[in-house]
Amino acid sequence: MIKIDHLSKKYNDNVVLDDISLEIKQGDVVGIIGPSGTGKSTLLKLLLGLYPGYQGEILINGKELGSLNPAKWREKCAFVEQVPFLFEGTVRENVKLGQEVSEKKVDQVLERVGIVHLADRRVGGEKSELSGGECQKIAIARALLRNAEVLILDEPTNHLDEAAKQWLMDFVRNFDQTMIYVSHEESMIQLADRKIAVQR
Ligand code: ADP
Repeated sequence: MIKIDHLSKKYNDNVVLDDISLEIKQGDVVGIIGPSGTGKSTLLKLLLGLYPGYQGEILINGKELGSLNPAKWREKCAFVEQVPFLFEGTVRENVKLGQEVSEKKVDQVLERVGIVHLADRRVGGEKSELSGGECQKIAIARALLRNAEVLILDEPTNHLDEAAKQWLMDFVRNFDQTMIYVSHEESMIQLADRKIAVQR
């Protein structure tokens, strides 16, 4: 469980988040919406433990995030970026990320996200010829392969065509672990169990 208690964050003198409190239980799907510049990405990065300086508390199962081993916490989270980093190699290698797991296991997650037909495709070079949706599926497959407990997505529909968006919405609908995402799309936010509107 994640408890955010009176959390505030400023960059120099610029207050970005002001006194936010929120509880996220295991399995909750949390959608965050709000105008640009209101600190949504900052909130996600704070949750990922990427910024040490903040006021208030971020408690993970009762323990302050700052007191946890950052590497261990990041192992439990998976951050799905809008444009995931792909290195030169096959899709399968890009999902595996050097982990000691069988090809069969990698292919199972590729199957689950619907890109097993791309497993041997070489990507990451100048011409990887993948769509935004396929790149994002690689990022989601990475998270699934390492069994991340918390999936965090920042504007996941931004580089998706309509079909990929529909796929993502189905994925969110059927996902049964903790998920926290920022989206400007009302239809995405409607899928969340907890909807949070950040204001200026
Ligand atoms: P949102 O995701 O809602 O668009 P952000 O969290 O990206 O908002 O940014 C909120 C505000 O904080 C913006 O004014 C942005 O310019 C500023 N900001 C974001 N990251 C940094 C940073 N690393 N250093 C200084 N200012 C930042």
